[in-house]
Amino acid sequence: MSYERRSVQDTQAYQPGKQAALSETIKLNTNENPYPPPAEVVEALRSISAETLRRYPPPLADAFRSAVAELHRVDVESIIAVNGGDELIRLAMATFVEPGQPVGILQPSYALYPVVTSLHGSPIIGVELDSNWLPPDDAASLLNAAGAALVFMTNPHAPSGSLVSVEEIERFAGAVDGVVLIDEAYVDFVDPSLEHDAVTLIRRLDNVILLRTLSKGYSLAGLRCGYGIGSRGVIRPMLTKTRDAYNVDAIAQRVAECAVRQRAAAEQTWHKVRQSRAALTEALVHAGFRVYPSQTNFVLATVPPERDAALMTAQLEQRGILVRHFDAPRLRDKLRITVGTPEQNAALLLALRELV
Ligand SMILES: *Cc1c(COP(=O)(O)O)cnc(C)c1O
Repeated sequence: MSYERRSVQDTQAYQPGKQAALSETIKLNTNENPYPPPAEVVEALRSISAETLRRYPPPLADAFRSAVAELHRVDVESIIAVNGGDELIRLAMATFVEPGQPVGILQPSYALYPVVTSLHGSPIIGVELDSNWLPPDDAASLLNAAGAALVFMTNPHAPSGSLVSVEEIERFAGAVDGVVLIDEAYVDFVDPSLEHDAVTLIRRLDNVILLRTLSKGYSLAGLRCGYGIGSRGVIRPMLTKTRDAYNVDAIAQRVAECAVRQRAAAEQTWHKVRQSRAALTEALVHAGFRVYPSQTNFVLATVPPERDAALMTAQLEQRGILVRHFDAPRLRDKLRITVGTPEQNAALLLALRELV
């Protein structure tokens, strides 16, 4: 006898990337930043007192939100702090989607969106990205016709790394009837010369929520902290109603605030990752892979003809190197490889050259 709700029974569990048992494993499968957080951030963690732990944290994470609001030059009421970006995905679902109402997903993309949608008991309106991993021209009208209350779009896109310009997002989100959650988990790695900044959109479009995380850019995946940016109106119900009263713990608030204030140190790692991304892309192409141009800290590489990406993933694992393979349409012949340190990338390339 199962006591689960029907929608829970019917949902296929999210499969996170493997966590390595051995510290010498070269872990290029979950898009963590290969560099540690800055010393100031580690010091902020060390300085947390017993008294801070005894008490409940500030419910709205005011100091952290202020730091974020300053960074983006928006009102603090436009920011919600969350327990990892993943929490914002659940909050958006709980806040904007009546159970059973359709949810749009520009796909393929982050495997958590369909899981959260299915748990909610909502049908998925999947809109396939085009051959360059960009939304098709009729995406908004397809989603509106299906009655999508919430739409998930990853930008830069995962797992391809492609980037949609702010103008294109504005055209798309401005035409969608429901709420559009633009998942910017990887936006820190975008080439600064592109001057990509979607935050300005929240002044013009009251249905847009941007998702940010400290997991990737700020080297804090273990901390669990992220935030949402949107118009006051779209953020308010999540701040005041659907959020747990103490959704971000005292440690995360303190450390994440310091990380945002020390952003310049994190930026240096983004610069190094971009340089390594270019070198890795070139080397993979040279080794016979097809690689999509990436604005993230990973690359999506199609294996050379007649090669099996799943087998290659397993062979790499035997050599102590983890990469990600998705057994999904359009992705079966590809590896998603996190950009590591130059040494890690060199070890990967050595192993791949042996294998192909
Ligand atoms: C990593 C990631 C997130 C958020 O991760 P958290 O660790 O929960 O902050 C959201 N969307 C995508 C596409 C991601 O890759």
